[in-house]
Amino acid sequence: METSLSPLRQALQEGDTLKLQRLLEETHPQDLLAVWDDLEGEHRYVVLTLLPKDRAAEVFANLPAEEQAEYLKTLPPWRVRELLEELSLDDLADALQAVEEEDPDLARRLKEALDPETRAEVEELTQYEEDEAGGLMTPEYVAVREGMTVEEVIRFLRRAAPDAETIYYIYVVDEAGRLKGVLSLRDLIVADPKTKVAEIMNPKVVFARTDTDQEEVARLMADYDFTVLPVVDEDGVLVGIVTVDDVLDVLEEEATEDIHRMAAVDVPDLVYSQ
Ligand code: ATP
Ligand code: MG
Repeated sequence: METSLSPLRQALQEGDTLKLQRLLEETHPQDLLAVWDDLEGEHRYVVLTLLPKDRAAEVFANLPAEEQAEYLKTLPPWRVRELLEELSLDDLADALQAVEEEDPDLARRLKEALDPETRAEVEELTQYEEDEAGGLMTPEYVAVREGMTVEEVIRFLRRAAPDAETIYYIYVVDEAGRLKGVLSLRDLIVADPKTKVAEIMNPKVVFARTDTDQEEVARLMADYDFTVLPVVDEDGVLVGIVTVDDVLDVLEEEATEDIHRMAAVDVPDLVYSQ
């Protein structure tokens, strides 16, 4: 990976914008994140400006909160706008919360620039505790009613897919939005087009509530081998989904905390043994 990135480093040194753009077109966001800390601040800024917008958003979403806040302050306005548009709602809410802490005025301006629907959804998400399911979830799920036929659902998916966080699981809700079932994309594709959702859905849904602790969310996903978990409110109404990428971040955080805790405990031991 280091070798594949050295042309990029070279182009950064030379300030060769065209070459950079071409190289960045073919660089995976994860490969950039792997060397992010070694890049000079100025070069990071250039990378975030020149990356195609969807990848810029993916890199951005994985940066520490303080760094996100800094970029939202300093990147060109058009790029900030693109980032805010490209981020999924959970990542957007997190980033705006980060800015809020550093610069409430900027946070307010950024929120005002969002379209009203997005703004409302972000406001909603920022009400939840950061370390609970509500703080991890995104409302970009696909939900259907049990009376729909398989072919109707597939037609619906074509329209809903571009904005959904995932389409591999389709949740079934009743008229009040309460979670009633789940089916996978595979279940859908293999079923006869005329079949009703009710006939193929799994009515025993494993879910979290908005106030379920993030560690419990991670445990549920690991135990059941799910990559996505639906989240319901106190009335059983589906309000979001948590995806495995966010849960992996949680596990990483908790592991780091544990290591720090262990390190803190180990220091006196070492001192005593001398
Ligand atoms: P399989 O692994 O059996 O081939 P698949 O590849 O279609 O199935 P998986 O992702 O493995 O899909 O999911 C298997 C089943 O788990 C699906 O039929 C789906 O309805 C069900 N499922 C998904 N999420 C949940 C959930 N939160 N609670 C209960 N069941 C779920
Ligand atoms: Mg499977």
